[in-house]
Amino acid sequence: MSTLGIYCADCGTECERTTGREAGARDPDLIDAQVWACTVCPEAWAPCAADGNPIGLPAGAETRHARAVMRERQIERLIGEALRHCPNGRPIAEERVASFLAHELRLPLAEAAIDRLDLTWCRRAWLALKGASYADAVRHAQTFRPRKLVPVTLGAPSSRDGAAA
Ligand SMILES: [Zn+2]
Repeated sequence: MSTLGIYCADCGTECERTTGREAGARDPDLIDAQVWACTVCPEAWAPCAADGNPIGLPAGAETRHARAVMRERQIERLIGEALRHCPNGRPIAEERVASFLAHELRLPLAEAAIDRLDLTWCRRAWLALKGASYADAVRHAQTFRPRKLVPVTLGAPSSRDGAAA
């Protein structure tokens, strides 16, 4: 079991696997389910996936709410734009929006997942997406072909490329 470093998004404390009931979850579906919970913050948890790992990072109600609002008002708004033109295009639209958001936040893709964001990052994500349209995400996808090993070279011109002039 590789469960190194599951930390609470709100306070940074290492989390433990427990039941929804012990974590303070009130959702009937979660009470008997396994969750990852912060040992310090009240009602701070993340659902547990079938493989035992958390889905996102555990966080308290306020952060979870901010993530949900973010997803609903910004992410789904952009995906909705895509689906108007291509009703079956959800998977690619989600991928493009996620990649665009990661780029805007200057975060590696995995860390820019909405379920991992804390309140500060939720606010940044909101600001990054609120003026954006799906066309921006498409433009980003066309400009930045995924280069797996170099997620964060943005903003700092690489000296290794030499002077191209
Ligand atoms: Zn915590």
